[in-house]
Amino acid sequence: MIHHRIALVVCATSLAGSGALAGQGNRPAAPAVLRSAPISSIRYEVTFDSATAQHRTIRLAMSFEVGAGKDPVLLSVPAWTPGAYEISSFARWISHFSATAGERPLAWDKADPDTWRIRTTGPGRVTVRFDYLADTLDNAMAWSRPDFLLFNGTNLFPYPEGRGFDFPATVTVKTQPDWLVATGMKPGGAPLTWSEANYHDLVDMPFFIGRFDYDSTVVDGKATRLASYPKDILKGDTRATFWDQIAKAIPAMTAVFQETPWNSYTVMTIFDSSYAGGSALEHQSSHVGVYAPMMIGTPLLASITAHEIFHAWNVKRLRPADMVPYEYDRPEPTPWLWVSEGITDYYADLALIRGKIVDSTIFMGLTAEKIQTVAEAPPTALQDASLSTWIHPTDGTGYLYYPKGSLAGLLLDIVIRDASDNRRSLDDVMRELYRTTYKRGRGFTAADWWGAVGRAAGGRSFADFDARYIDGREPYPYDALLKLAGLRLASDTIREPRLGLGGAPDSAGVRITAVQPGGAAEAAGVRTGDILVALGDVAITDPNFGPAYRARFRNAEGQDFPIKVRRGADTLTLTGKVRLIEQVNAHVELDPNPSPKAMRIRGGILTGATDK
Ligand SMILES: [Zn+2]
Repeated sequence: MIHHRIALVVCATSLAGSGALAGQGNRPAAPAVLRSAPISSIRYEVTFDSATAQHRTIRLAMSFEVGAGKDPVLLSVPAWTPGAYEISSFARWISHFSATAGERPLAWDKADPDTWRIRTTGPGRVTVRFDYLADTLDNAMAWSRPDFLLFNGTNLFPYPEGRGFDFPATVTVKTQPDWLVATGMKPGGAPLTWSEANYHDLVDMPFFIGRFDYDSTVVDGKATRLASYPKDILKGDTRATFWDQIAKAIPAMTAVFQETPWNSYTVMTIFDSSYAGGSALEHQSSHVGVYAPMMIGTPLLASITAHEIFHAWNVKRLRPADMVPYEYDRPEPTPWLWVSEGITDYYADLALIRGKIVDSTIFMGLTAEKIQTVAEAPPTALQDASLSTWIHPTDGTGYLYYPKGSLAGLLLDIVIRDASDNRRSLDDVMRELYRTTYKRGRGFTAADWWGAVGRAAGGRSFADFDARYIDGREPYPYDALLKLAGLRLASDTIREPRLGLGGAPDSAGVRITAVQPGGAAEAAGVRTGDILVALGDVAITDPNFGPAYRARFRNAEGQDFPIKVRRGADTLTLTGKVRLIEQVNAHVELDPNPSPKAMRIRGGILTGATDK
């Protein structure tokens, strides 16, 4: 069973349901001939109240000033949300479009699938109105309930085509008087009004509107807020534990960059029983996580949270040059997602241990899990997996840059610490790039990255490392490199019962997301979308489910056993046959005879220290 596979917690969007659209990622960039007439004084007004909630609808009014020119105004809506690397074409959720100047309706048509062309009739203020269907539970999209709304600015804030993104705008929310609004946007000087100086910042600030729990504290000297929906789902001890984890993780990450870059940070969480697993999306001063309620109180929730917060530095600020600036109407593939996502995941693990949220056993366990995931996938270069994510490959390699990129981070950290006698580390690389690229208003390139890595390692060349392990598909030299950090990789081979399915936790049980061809589950008739309820007499709700199931059937090869699933409204009992599969389990252990230097390096990685 794979309740907590990393693949289920990609920072992007849900893995399901995007296949039909993924092909659009291949379309050539539209010829850049569209250019709107200039517009200014842009205001967005978002209406969501108990009446619009009935229809799961947001009403948007965008108003702006136009001049006397005859050229039409061209307004485009983004095709994707940065961080969720897929083309979603948010314009598809728009209806009832209209444009007016005063009381007068203006003529309009579409200039391309994402772009409206409005014929203005003279200088003055123009208002565009439309409805937006908020029915998709996905952190990159918009989703509503009778008392709640999540939306991203990318979903519904149009921008003037071909005029750049360097324009200020305000957002005003109209809602029920007793509902709350949470957003990372800057207060705009009027009630329920916020503003940003440019479009990139504007659309990087998701909103919660409605009834939810909302409190704040100060971490690292900055206001930090926690918004959770539905009300009362995260309260008492579990809320206190979550807050404690946030307060411990942030300083461990700030220490890497020696700067807390936000004015305030908002952790925005939705727990919904229809959602399988967990997924979160990063922003510069907030993140939105959508989770199965079963994840409350787990180390996995802390790990995803740390991962998203680390993104506030790594990818929202320090970013590959291929994604600077963000363009919203076309894919921006990059071979560097292994740094943006994989190394972020390495630092999420480090934040948990450096913040004393977990102990070193858990850190070694997380590392072993990643080694196992990479070993089970086809050999794949990190650069290729990074580039391919836009098309969501189906061969199991599409998200490999998370675990494998994380391991590349660990190995680079070890090589740098070994080469510098533990005086420098991967932290120095991240900090240098942050200062020399992000702080100077640009993205990083291969020369920036490998230059910083080489300098941290005392001038050593990493051309060979790159060719073999980043651009190449060679297996990682775990034995040689882990030893330098007082660690070692061990494995044991066992035969244990395997069903051959993938799933993700859900309030009802485990929702089946993949059925392996030729496996025991397929032979029994289990289908994708089924909810697994019990295997024999072992209920899925048993917290010790995995070990209990394996122990129960370990000596029962070939024996029939009942597989209870829910399919729609029906509960079915299918008959499976126990299949024992040879399984190699990786473990990362402490080296029993480490050199004094290896012990210093191990201590340095786990605490964030270097020897000066
Ligand atoms: Zn991420």
